[in-house]
Amino acid sequence: MSNALRLQPSWVIPIRPENTIHLDFDLIICDGVIVDLLPRQAANDRYGDVSAIDLTGEVVLPGLINCHGHAAMTLLRGYADDHSLMAWLEDHIWPVEAKLVSPSFVHAGAWLAAAESLSRGTTCCADSYFFPQATAEAMGMTGIRSQITTPVIQFPNAWASTEEDHIAQSLVFFDWAATQPRLTVGFAPHAAYSLSDQGFKRIRQLALANDLPVHLHLHESNDEMIRHAALYQCRPIDRMRRLEMFDTRLQTVHMTQLLDEEISWLKLTKTPVVHCPESNMKLASGICPIDQLRAEGVDVALGTDGAASNNDLDLFQEMRTAALLAKVATGAPEALSAEQALYMATMGGAQYLGLDHLIGSLEIGKQADVISVRLSDIQTQPVYHPVSQLVYAVTGHNVTHTFVEGELLYHNGDFNRFDVGELRSQVSQWQARIGALI
Ligand SMILES: [Zn+2]
Repeated sequence: MSNALRLQPSWVIPIRPENTIHLDFDLIICDGVIVDLLPRQAANDRYGDVSAIDLTGEVVLPGLINCHGHAAMTLLRGYADDHSLMAWLEDHIWPVEAKLVSPSFVHAGAWLAAAESLSRGTTCCADSYFFPQATAEAMGMTGIRSQITTPVIQFPNAWASTEEDHIAQSLVFFDWAATQPRLTVGFAPHAAYSLSDQGFKRIRQLALANDLPVHLHLHESNDEMIRHAALYQCRPIDRMRRLEMFDTRLQTVHMTQLLDEEISWLKLTKTPVVHCPESNMKLASGICPIDQLRAEGVDVALGTDGAASNNDLDLFQEMRTAALLAKVATGAPEALSAEQALYMATMGGAQYLGLDHLIGSLEIGKQADVISVRLSDIQTQPVYHPVSQLVYAVTGHNVTHTFVEGELLYHNGDFNRFDVGELRSQVSQWQARIGALI
């Protein structure tokens, strides 16, 4: 097994079977795939000649999956804070985007986002932004896995002018993307209020014909509900039902405004929700009722949203926020346990993206998207329950190794695929240009 690798941590959390922690097990990877997970003693007998990485004091788990983001907006981290969603978009973000968005802006921002994500233990991210090919090229260069959905919106921008133009540009991107590794694609209509019925109908037709997901900001804030009601005299979900958008592989984002019958509808149509607690809290958009959604059997995943409304891409911090917010929102400390939060960030994410046959757990035959996290630091001692540590005490800074498809992409501050000095240089050039606009 010349291409094989043996990881030797203190703990392995495979996520499946659920609530399982293996002590002193080895994870064996070969040709990008998980081929074995077994007690160290047995591994010594069977895989004694395989090159090993000693990870004493560390926990190995599946790479985290970030199901909602706008990678290019990492360049706008800290640009405009402490505003409501609509004021933030209309008075700050959209004006600066109108001046700057270009393939080079998107490439630099996506590169920064991918580097941050890999260094914080995220091995797969879902993204939606203009010039999706620039995002895909930057992410492909770093080696991270991604789902890139193409934005569709009525408003003109540097990438496309009309709804129909966005859809035409999307089809060109899908053709290019078909040959790219570690990449899946789909449509991202921006929001119910910002597309016409005709736009949704065309996306529905193409998504069904090509089995593509449709990634949609839905019921993000009360402002969105008011704006949509003024335009269409109904709630966004009701209009999406009328347009039969739930027939597609619909991936809903945010969902902070939900009635009981809407939750039942999500369950009936097996429509998953991605929860972005830090972005929702920062923009005061509301609280997604994930405890109720989970209890009803709706699949829930976790996302950071863009770094401009978070302001980091650290899913460890997002897990902790999700767990704490669920307890405050329900008044029940049992709401969203550490195990459940970790599930959301791994298998929950894989299910949301329709990739659960490939990633999300450490099972034999799955892709070796794997991370190792150090629990030997002072701030994570002592260790009684590694999962509690991962959700309530660790940050992404504790990540030591990040593998995608068995390839080591990040290791203790170093990236294997690119020169971090070149990334820093590009980011500082953009900082100068963007900073001049403030
Ligand atoms: Zn978003």
